[in-house]
Amino acid sequence: MIRVAVAGAAGRMGETVCTAVQGAADMELVGRADPLLGVTLEDVLTGANPPEVVVDFTLPDTALDNALACLRAGVHVVVGTTGFDPAALLADLGSVARPGDGKPQANVLIAPNFAIGAVLMMRFAVEAARHMAKAEIVESHHEEKLDAPSGTAARTAQLMAEVTGGSEPPIHSVRLPGMVANQEVIFGDVGQTLTIRHDTIGRESFMPGVLLAIRRVAGLEQSPVVGLEQLLF
Ligand code: NAP
Repeated sequence: MIRVAVAGAAGRMGETVCTAVQGAADMELVGRADPLLGVTLEDVLTGANPPEVVVDFTLPDTALDNALACLRAGVHVVVGTTGFDPAALLADLGSVARPGDGKPQANVLIAPNFAIGAVLMMRFAVEAARHMAKAEIVESHHEEKLDAPSGTAARTAQLMAEVTGGSEPPIHSVRLPGMVANQEVIFGDVGQTLTIRHDTIGRESFMPGVLLAIRRVAGLEQSPVVGLEQLLF
């Protein structure tokens, strides 16, 4: 059994992750950290039944500190929170205790999108970017979403620019009630357009990817890993 705790456990994603972990035969939910529950991540990390893996779906301002706290405690961390700069986490990893100081090596996996369809959308967009002249990204989310552009759109733009060697495509962000999450990557070339679109209908779409990350994070050969695609392809 993998002992799992969730940071942001009272949030929209955190609640869904708790339910998914409780439904997984090989996992035990040992902690729920959230200000709304009156439980801090520190409480969970230092509790009687500490986790082996923490899943973080919190806020852009807290995800970095939470990840570093997990790593300092020797606990693997799967970060789903978006809107913070992963480069800051990568830079701060140098300050984290490494093996030899008595704590086990802990790994980190950061994924801006755990839905397989979204990962495929990014992959197809990268392929199309090699061949089409120009592209723009339109991403639409529920109005409570704190960050804009979305982590998925930012990652898509970054991956596309890496293969073209040009600038990142512009991103348009829509925030409206009724939306969950969707993204279109629209390509234009002489006399033709191509649209690659992914729609998230419900938060359950993220759960197979989150559970896969929980199962795999301890065995990563390198850390940190950014992107679920690193586990899939
Ligand atoms: P949400 O409903 O606002 O949930 C965030 C929860 O985290 C809140 O209950 C918040 O409590 C709590 N929290 C704040 N600081 C904390 C701390 N230090 N320790 C523990 N919990 C803390 O947000 P959401 O819709 O679930 O989204 C969470 C994040 O996941 C966002 O960044 C979103 O973009 C991202 N996301 C990622 C994916 C993916 O596939 N990677 C998919 C969907 C969403 P308070 O309300 O009291 O502050």
